[in-house]
Amino acid sequence: MTDTLIIAIDGPAGSGKSSVSKQAARALSYGYLDTGAAYRALAWHVLARGTDTADESAVLAAADDFDYAISLDPDDYWVRVGSDDVTAAIREPRVSDAVSGVARVPAVRETVNALFRRLVAESGRPGVIVEGRDITTVVAPDAPVRILLTAAPEVRAARRSAELVGHDAQQVAAALHQRDASDSKVVDFLTAAEGVSVVDSSDLDFDQTVDAVLGVVRTGVQG
Ligand code: C5P
Repeated sequence: MTDTLIIAIDGPAGSGKSSVSKQAARALSYGYLDTGAAYRALAWHVLARGTDTADESAVLAAADDFDYAISLDPDDYWVRVGSDDVTAAIREPRVSDAVSGVARVPAVRETVNALFRRLVAESGRPGVIVEGRDITTVVAPDAPVRILLTAAPEVRAARRSAELVGHDAQQVAAALHQRDASDSKVVDFLTAAEGVSVVDSSDLDFDQTVDAVLGVVRTGVQG
């Protein structure tokens, strides 16, 4: 794809993918690209236009008029749409509930994948950890290190509700499982493709998961 070394990490919501990828990027002095943020930002943009993410033509129209920027710096993470900083807003449950509708449109996926490749190529870093759902299979299938980060469904639900303080735990778990079910119709992110290393974080704490990921990276990059 480019001379920039890519570490591809996929996994479902609540697997620890974003925080673990960010920390591993810091340890390696690499960039960090959160691809879910692009889908979330587009869902936010569709909602801001007052349209419905279930309406495919409205989603495509919004994608044509999508001025999106993201930081690849793990120590200074932000996401913008036009002049709006949407870093916090894209984590709101209303956006999480809408995002699968945006992500299932093939033309949208092609557009954002081109954007990801450009962001990596222009990163100015020796390497970038790219995390999402289809990075190991579609966006960077030739990456020298490809990891599927998983965790048991009940562990993922508990982590996500701990993050969303003030929201009902059962509702958070139901929304997460619903989103996984919709997303898995588009991309199989629960099974490792050939050559992809699995890191199961169910029984690992945060530091142990970062160490496990860095172990796979070292083996993959140094042979
Ligand atoms: O990773 P995160 O939970 O922020 O992703 C938000 C949504 O973006 C997912 O639920 C999925 O619909 C979509 N997504 C995707 N492909 C990716 C990353 C995210 O379809 N590579």
